[in-house]
Order: sequence, then C-alpha cells, then structure tokens
Amino acid sequence: MRFGDFVGNERAKRPLAADIDAGRFPHALLLEGEAGSGRKTLAKIIARAAVCRGEGERPCGACDACRKSEHPDVMLYGGESGVPLSVDAVRAIRQQAYILPNEAAYRVMILADAQTMSMQAQNALLKILEEPPRRVIFILTCENRTQMLETIRSRCVCVSLGSVDWDEAEAVLRARLPRADAEELRRAHNLFGGRIGRVMDAMQDGTFRRVLELTSQFAEAVIAPTELPLLRLTATLEKNKELTAVVLASLLLVFRDALTLAYGGEVCLSTAPDAARALAARLSGRRLCALVKETQGLQVALSRNMNNTLFLTRMSACLRRAADGTAR
Ligand SMILES: [Zn+2]
Repeated sequence: MRFGDFVGNERAKRPLAADIDAGRFPHALLLEGEAGSGRKTLAKIIARAAVCRGEGERPCGACDACRKSEHPDVMLYGGESGVPLSVDAVRAIRQQAYILPNEAAYRVMILADAQTMSMQAQNALLKILEEPPRRVIFILTCENRTQMLETIRSRCVCVSLGSVDWDEAEAVLRARLPRADAEELRRAHNLFGGRIGRVMDAMQDGTFRRVLELTSQFAEAVIAPTELPLLRLTATLEKNKELTAVVLASLLLVFRDALTLAYGGEVCLSTAPDAARALAARLSGRRLCALVKETQGLQVALSRNMNNTLFLTRMSACLRRAADGTAR
C-alpha cells in the first residue's frame, strides 16, 4: 500500500497496509481523528487503493483508474459533498450499495463526518453494515468513535489518527506551503497539535496570522493597568468559539514559555516569544503559574458548551485575576 505524502500515523497505517496488501479490504472502516488530522485524505487514499487496477503496491498512481480525477466507483457523502447524512440519504446510500461496481473490483462509499448522523440515520446504516454487499467498502469518518452507535463501531475496523511529529510533518508542510516562513510553520504545527490539515487551513485562510496578533494583544492586555483592554479583546472573540479555542491554546503556550523564562529556561513552544519575554519580565513565577492554571480551566469551561458571552466575561476576569495577584 502506498500512502503518498500522508505521513506519520504509522500505528494506524501498518495494520491497514498489511490487510490491503494481502487483498483483504475491510467491509467497513471507521476513521476517527480531530479536524485536520487527515481522515478524509486517508479515506480517499484507501478508496484509490480499492479501485486501482495496477500491479503491485496500490494505489499505483499510473493506471487508468488512478489517473481519473473522479472515479465512478468512489462516492462521497456527507462532509464537503454537501449531501447531509439524513435518514433519507442513508436509505438512498443503501440502495446504491447494491449496484455492482462500474469498472473496479469494489465500490467505495465514503461517509464523511458520520458523527453528524442522527440515531435514526445511524440505525438505518447499521442495517447494511450487518449484511454488507460483497463488493462494497464503507469508509466512515468521525471526530471520535464514541459519537457513533456501539453497534456501528463493532462492525467497523476502527482506525485512530493522531498528531504527526514535526520531523515527519516538516517536509510535507514545506512542500505544500513553499512560501511560508519555516519558523512560523513550526510554531503553527505546534499550536495545532501536529494536525497537518489544520495547519494548512490556518496558514492559508489567515487564521494563524490573526491568532498571532490576538495572542500578543492578549499578553499585553493581561498586564495592562486596567481590565478594559482585556474586556475589549475578549469582545472581538464573540460568536467565534473556534477562534477562542485556538487563542486560548496559543495563550497557554505563551504563559508556559514565560514561566520557563522566569525560571531561567529558554522559550521553545509559543507562537509569540516576544510576548512571553515581556510577561516573564513583568510577572512573578507564581503569577505566571496562576495564568497557566486559569487558562487550562478556561479550556475545560469552553469545551463544556458554556454560553459564549458569559464565557468571554469569565475569560477576561480569570486572566485578570491571575495576573494581578488576586487569584485564589
Ligand atoms: Zn492504479
């Protein structure tokens, strides 16, 4: 099996490659991983391997099937296909699954973001997973397998995708983003937990730049004489939970770096080393420790679906309290 530039995740790839190289395609696969971890990319590579007509390792990249930009036996539902995985859609997918492949040995049906399926839709899908047609491969992608019914999980080969180390990610990221600054790429890779897809998106759509800006502004606001700058900044995050989460992750790295600096270490992790230096010069180790703890607490609170406006007020108050010494 050839994974192309789908680097890292060896633990997930090895058993998959062993099965596929031996000609044993699982009837159903469940690929789990956070956004940007490469679920969709891997699904497409497996689909390509299933329809490839080349000899030897697949997908060969050279046969007629591999050269098609869209293969008639690979179908994508859910996710970016724009077809929501409703009960009706799943019923239609079930009917499609009984149609023989057009030209390949298999028909591959990719159900992206399967976690968006209702219980009813998942139950409808279960019916076909229980007795799958012979030449069909289902590939489901989701963030976390626990989002799927136990009965579905038990009928799928589950594959977990995680972070990719910088050593392996570097070459891929540099090739795909040739104009990006190398140091900036490394920092983005760190901030997004080694998820290559997420790094690419953030570098291309300007999110990373915006996060850098906000991180520096927050770090300044934390040590400002009044809470006003912090309140103003948190207000800019209103209605954008995703950005809030990334800014929090970025701030956590800065506070940790500042703490390391305060104890004589060197900056190594964060997206804003200057901000870390400024904080280390102004705040004691104890205050920096409090900032790290408060930020971790805020991350937990954010993940619990708290009302956004309330959360941002709390964020401002918590950071302020930690930095000016009134933290509990
Ligand atoms: Zn091929």
